[in-house]
Amino acid sequence: MKIFVTGGAGFIGSHFVRRLLAAGGSEVTVLDKLTYAGNRANLPKEDPQLRFVRGDINDGALLAELLPGHDAVVHFAAESHVDRSLSGASDFVLTNVLGSQVLFDACLKARVERVVHVSTDEVYGSVPEGSSLEGDPLLPNSPYAASKAGGDLLARSYFQSHRLPVVITRCSNNYGPYQYPEKVIPLFITNLLTGKQVPVYGDGRNVRHWLHVDDHCRAIELALEKGTPGEIYNIAGGPELSNLDLTMRILELCGADERRIQYVTDRKGHDLRYSVDYSRITEELGYQPQKSFDEGLAEVIDWYRDNQWWWAPQTQPVDPAAGAEQAG
Ligand code: NAD
Repeated sequence: MKIFVTGGAGFIGSHFVRRLLAAGGSEVTVLDKLTYAGNRANLPKEDPQLRFVRGDINDGALLAELLPGHDAVVHFAAESHVDRSLSGASDFVLTNVLGSQVLFDACLKARVERVVHVSTDEVYGSVPEGSSLEGDPLLPNSPYAASKAGGDLLARSYFQSHRLPVVITRCSNNYGPYQYPEKVIPLFITNLLTGKQVPVYGDGRNVRHWLHVDDHCRAIELALEKGTPGEIYNIAGGPELSNLDLTMRILELCGADERRIQYVTDRKGHDLRYSVDYSRITEELGYQPQKSFDEGLAEVIDWYRDNQWWWAPQTQPVDPAAGAEQAG
């Protein structure tokens, strides 16, 4: 199978590509713009099954050249950090909305037989109680989430209007190795490893579900292999934790205590809670999360401890006035 992966040098996309290459049997083309969040070092330097192209999903001519002959496209490329979307949303709209549309057009022209659009639970907006179902209305609150909802709705429209065989996935927050250290888990770990404080937004009661990136990628593989075109699949399975609970667990595993917490002004429009019901992908595609959070978090801390070469060049001096939140 020939698979085209956008954003394959980012956190989740590179994990997906490394899994594909390790499984064998696929030829993979990665198209990635290498923004600050993309890193060529997240992928093997050389692999006969991998072709890496630096480029933009908004470049229709490049897509027309690259896409023909691919059996499937998995679309990860995005601007992904909520805080950055609050200080400037243009790049988010450009890549997450317009870029997705340019990609879907190119997929139609190249007659790609399967597309997976990787979306997020944040498109549903804040869910104070219960869990969002795939048919629930989209009520995004941050420019990041709104731009992801735009791409998500375009994917649906390309199925409805043009029968583009696209499957949409909406996953909860991810954690794992190779995550850019602006997101809460790697930021807190790298801050603790370098003797800094960890900035917690507001009173830390905002709630997120945390899924290991490997479980997310297995769910995307199932959507790719067996998902019904035009359908949406929520993905989750990790624990529900307040930011403060999460912080306490990271502190404990890093041998630190609450004196390292610095409470900072809450993020604008900070969603209190996200939660998706993922029974559809469980029942229809046989998905089951496998990684326990305690084991996964301890492994990730070890990974950041052992791979300072990877993250040290990417860490900026921490602005104590800024909190951190995982976008997803
Ligand atoms: P990331 O920021 O780590 O990676 C994004 C990648 O896209 C980078 O390699 C970047 O260089 C590339 N990119 C950005 N703009 C591009 C463009 N115009 N053309 C080509 N490449 C471009 O993000 P991530 O955390 O790996 O997220 C991947 C996808 O999964 C995103 O679509 C995100 O919305 C979604 N998602 C993320 C989470 C999470 O918790 N991180 C949860 C659910 C869904």
